[in-house]
Amino acid sequence: MTDDEATHPAAELLMTSEEIRRRVRELGVQLSAAFGAGGPPPLLVGVLNGSLPFLSDLARNLTIDVEIDFMAISSYGGGVGQSGVVRIVKDLDADVGGREVVIVEDIVDTGLTLNYLKRSLGERAPRSLSAVTLLDKTARRLVPVPVEYRGFEVPDVFVVGYGLDFQGLYRNIPDVYGIKDVARLAAEPRFLLGSLYQPHPS
Ligand code: IMP
Repeated sequence: MTDDEATHPAAELLMTSEEIRRRVRELGVQLSAAFGAGGPPPLLVGVLNGSLPFLSDLARNLTIDVEIDFMAISSYGGGVGQSGVVRIVKDLDADVGGREVVIVEDIVDTGLTLNYLKRSLGERAPRSLSAVTLLDKTARRLVPVPVEYRGFEVPDVFVVGYGLDFQGLYRNIPDVYGIKDVARLAAEPRFLLGSLYQPHPS
């Protein structure tokens, strides 16, 4: 890590793309061992939109066949963190009955979203149901939902990058940053754009 990366005034580099790459590879090994015992291929359920980079990299680090499907959800009214009530905006195409289902999340924060997804998919009689998340913010948990596989524990800071957004922005940053000046981000959502991308080595 260079001094520039470590000392951005408004954002702190938490995980470099290289650290993420190594950890996702380890998760790939772990999941391949857990689900590689024959039977129908497990179904990876990506939760749109934040899980996209993680799911894409994780799937390519598996050494077993998997199928991939997506769900999109949105919170009712005041936000997931307040109500815990979420609505399925896009449901799975696949039937999960009798399948090994692995929910793929970018981050588990309060746990309300994952709890809802587990309840909802659990009612469809999968053979097994587990979750893998890149980031786990356990300090903010409101519901004690089991997270079977996780990449990194993160502190109680708002994070962006590698799929995680603020108002749809910052998802395509390859690293993960913690936002130090959340008030400014709320007032000026684009103020960090451009400064969190590392230049390609020439
Ligand atoms: P929950 O609080 O565990 O239900 O998380 C709900 C969703 O909020 C996650 O899937 C993320 O999309 C989003 N989220 C939670 N914490 C963060 C964060 O620090 N940065 C960006 N998105 C977040």
